[in-house]
Amino acid sequence: MNDLISRKALIAEYDRVHIGPPGGARKLMEDAPAVDAVPVVHGRLEQYVPTTAWRCNMCGRMHYLENKTPEEAHMNCCSQCGAVFNMEAYLSMHEIIEHKQRRATNE
Ligand SMILES: [Zn+2]
Repeated sequence: MNDLISRKALIAEYDRVHIGPPGGARKLMEDAPAVDAVPVVHGRLEQYVPTTAWRCNMCGRMHYLENKTPEEAHMNCCSQCGAVFNMEAYLSMHEIIEHKQRRATNE
């Protein structure tokens, strides 16, 4: 995976620590190719109705996954707000499902 950096922050740090007239490095930073990017928003899906509906904690959108977990449905991000769902969120949802299943079998 590539890392994206802030050209503005990099040049500001260069200017802060560099002594003397700007060298070729500053020109390289100014001219380096860039991609359009936005900061990643990390969210999680919260199970709303057992195994059928999941709610994005960032925007509230409901995702209906037809009895699949977000991981099984390859739900990596929110289709409405773009929040990225990480594996910890899936694992916590699995734990919730397992907890509910254990509770249901004990009732
Ligand atoms: Zn969302």
